[in-house]
Amino acid sequence: MGYELSKEQMNEILSQLKEDYLIYAPKCFQDGGRFSDTDCIRYGEINKIEEIVFDKKAEYSFKEVLLPISQTLFYFTEDSVKEADAPKQGAIVFLRSCDLHSVKRLDEIYLRNGFSDYYYQRLRERVVFVLMGCQTAFDSCFCVDMGTNQSNEYDMSIDRSENGYQLDCKSNQLEKLLSQYATNNLSVTPAYVTETKTRVNIPSNLSYQIGNSNMWREYDTRCINCGRCNFVCPTCTCFTMQDIFYTDNEKAGERRRVWASCMVDGYTDVAGGASYRQKNGDRMRFKVLHKVLDYKERNGYHMCVGCGRCDDICPEYISFSHCINKLENGMKEVMEHE
Ligand code: SF4
Ligand code: SF4
Repeated sequence: MGYELSKEQMNEILSQLKEDYLIYAPKCFQDGGRFSDTDCIRYGEINKIEEIVFDKKAEYSFKEVLLPISQTLFYFTEDSVKEADAPKQGAIVFLRSCDLHSVKRLDEIYLRNGFSDYYYQRLRERVVFVLMGCQTAFDSCFCVDMGTNQSNEYDMSIDRSENGYQLDCKSNQLEKLLSQYATNNLSVTPAYVTETKTRVNIPSNLSYQIGNSNMWREYDTRCINCGRCNFVCPTCTCFTMQDIFYTDNEKAGERRRVWASCMVDGYTDVAGGASYRQKNGDRMRFKVLHKVLDYKERNGYHMCVGCGRCDDICPEYISFSHCINKLENGMKEVMEHE
């Protein structure tokens, strides 16, 4: 059962929720875009429902709420270590179906990949997800082919309607709040798309032999290893560690983990001076096969959720979805040389 609420009622609910939660949603950062006089849609804290951008895709995903770009783990002096405090408030995150599917991938990596990451877990336990329905797909989305166009794993859903907003609530805590404003007398199914302009075909015979294809060589020169594709991806989870020493006392400092990218120089540097995947095409191969081959072998479903953000952000117009569609010919090529 669901609810219909006006803009004013939604804002009253948000202001009550703000007592316990930080509320994150895609919003417009005016003049915050890549080029002068352009805006950027990305995640930020909101106070009012009108701040949420429903009709454009967020260039960056919600993942920085769960995995901050730079996160202090602990502080140290010569003889003591103090763990960084957990955030005092929980978080409510408004996100689309593809991104909600990516939470499952993040959980797999940070909670079930051999051990549970303490810093991730303490944030994750306090996050509430609000699914934003999708009326239409954006140009670069390919969620239908990746099976992520619909999700039921939400605490609450929200769709815009003629009279305000329609909500489907599965959380008892939120239900108590909503019932102060309306009666749950509607049947609400969050909107979802059933077709996308961009389509992908992951060949059923895809194997690691694709690594021998010449298809990767195109990216040696086209890709400038900027790493943007990783930073916008809701399923990229790599980080690197940094020890920061304070300038006023070089024996004290803090340890941080910061986002890392498998596309940039230095990612594969190891002790002894070796470094792997020097060619940009080899980095592309590594990234693509992680998203649509090896993760699935371990977990039974693809890592990529088809959000299309990596296609949108690449300064060299390298398309991840085009690359996936080249895998079929790449497999034919390597099989012929068997
Ligand atoms: S965004 Fe494009 S150019 Fe930058 S690393 Fe990714 S594929 Fe290469
Ligand atoms: S690889 Fe590209 S399309 Fe797939 S989830 Fe990451 S950003 Fe989205």
